[in-house]
Amino acid sequence: MSVRNWDDVCEKVVVNNLCIGCGLCASICPHNNLRIEFNELGEYIALKQGEKCPDSCKLCLKVCPFAAEDQDEDTLGNELFSNVSGMKHTPETGYYLDSLIGYSTIGGHRENGASGGMATWMLETLLKENMVDYVACVSPTQEAGRLFKYVLVSEPEQVRSCSRSCYYPVEMSEVIKHILSNEGRYAIIGLPCFCKAIRLAMQLSPKLRGRVKFVLGLTCGQTKSKSFAEYICALGGGDPDCLRQFTFRIKDSGRPAADFGMKSVCRAGTKQVYENVVFWTEGIAPIWCNRYFTLNSCNFCDDLFAEVADVCFMDAWLPEYSSDWRGHSIVLVRSERLWSLFKSSVEEGSLFLKNSNIRDVILSQQGGLNIKRGEMRERYHLAKKAGQLVPKKRIHLCHSRVSFGRKRVVKMTWIISEKSGKEWILAKKQLPDFHTRFEPYIIHFRRAELFDRVSRVPKGIVRRLRRVLRV
Ligand SMILES: Cc1cc2nc3c(=O)[nH]c(=O)nc-3n(C[C@H](O)[C@H](O)[C@H](O)COP(=O)(O)OP(=O)(O)OC[C@H]3O[C@@H](n4cnc5c(N)ncnc54)[C@H](O)[C@@H]3O)c2cc1C
Repeated sequence: MSVRNWDDVCEKVVVNNLCIGCGLCASICPHNNLRIEFNELGEYIALKQGEKCPDSCKLCLKVCPFAAEDQDEDTLGNELFSNVSGMKHTPETGYYLDSLIGYSTIGGHRENGASGGMATWMLETLLKENMVDYVACVSPTQEAGRLFKYVLVSEPEQVRSCSRSCYYPVEMSEVIKHILSNEGRYAIIGLPCFCKAIRLAMQLSPKLRGRVKFVLGLTCGQTKSKSFAEYICALGGGDPDCLRQFTFRIKDSGRPAADFGMKSVCRAGTKQVYENVVFWTEGIAPIWCNRYFTLNSCNFCDDLFAEVADVCFMDAWLPEYSSDWRGHSIVLVRSERLWSLFKSSVEEGSLFLKNSNIRDVILSQQGGLNIKRGEMRERYHLAKKAGQLVPKKRIHLCHSRVSFGRKRVVKMTWIISEKSGKEWILAKKQLPDFHTRFEPYIIHFRRAELFDRVSRVPKGIVRRLRRVLRV
């Protein structure tokens, strides 16, 4: 990949279907040569809009999380955190000062939060404590075709309208442009790859470095195109073309936290025509887990825990917590200032937090890790075999091989993520048509799963025999 001298991010990243659509390149381009737009699959991508770039620039490539070659999460993390006293490290999580589990006790945070409402608490507290002037977070919009976007917020109350997770494309070009042209102290929340793009840009731009005071991360297993929300809307009986509002994390006191709902509101004109909630166990689980509508770049991401962020928030997907419908957050803290804030807030009672063993934190994300790290080498192998360009990632952290049976499953999940988006558009967002078109892929996928299960039987028997013989 490094052999060729690429001109810009469109030529190297977008053409090779590796753009995550974060928008950092468009905000930092000194010639305003890039813009971010949705492609036909409902994914944000960078597009060229100006003259040919000067050979000496290549700033867009230097800040792209899927193009930067000299810096990875290890080098960035080392520079940011390795000298902090008391800092610990695991290969899975990167650096951390402390790992905590709990929730915000401030009314509304946990109720309206994705998990324990900790991210909302953090953003709100940074403003209340005058540690920043603005926070950049993601807000619902009600705009047709763009249901969520990054916004800059200066009032603690406004932060609450941005609660909950957004499994929908968002991009940062506008907010980063604003930060570059307006003085102030800012905090930004984002997915791991977005945090990496921000850190890369902060290294190159003294203005960003001076103004961005905190980078907050969300753990991420994968992110989705617009089609994911449209599909769930159709699953609940709505018309995706009339989708105007979507809420990804609805809590229900009758269900465990892991069985959360997703709500669609469809409107024709100004009249509300349809509203529906679909729960995780009502058809969302296979779509999420089998990676329908997942962006291709997610196949080449090795960072689950936003390793370059000052703090990382995630769901407590552990049996003792995931049954509680109200939700618990796990927090990995890397910044000393934020750590003190957590500690004082626990003492004051606005947070309920206790220490969590780092092994439990890793265990809570084992499923995501298995896919990101466990299967990355196989995806690299498949991509290279198909002559595709692969980004430089920390392949040394990824398991050496997947089992013979699992290889087929890895291949099929990749095919599902690629083909689902295309077939959804070809089916004109009609659920029955989509399911008919997609049936052959599902048959292959089920066969691959069965083959995987059967191929593991001899190993299982040997394991059991050994146990019996030892007894
Ligand atoms: C695409 C995606 C994948 C995720 N994958 C996992 C996973 O595999 N495992 C896991 O444990 N957790 C995952 N999370 C994180 C999890 O869903 C919760 O966001 C996290 O636990 C924080 O919950 P909270 O109650 O503290 O946040 P809340 O108090 O609800 O606040 C969430 C904050 O995050 C901001 N936000 C939401 N979505 C985005 C986004 N896409 N980009 C930038 N900012 C955003 C909101 O504006 C809000 O300020 C994922 C989140 C996303 C968006």
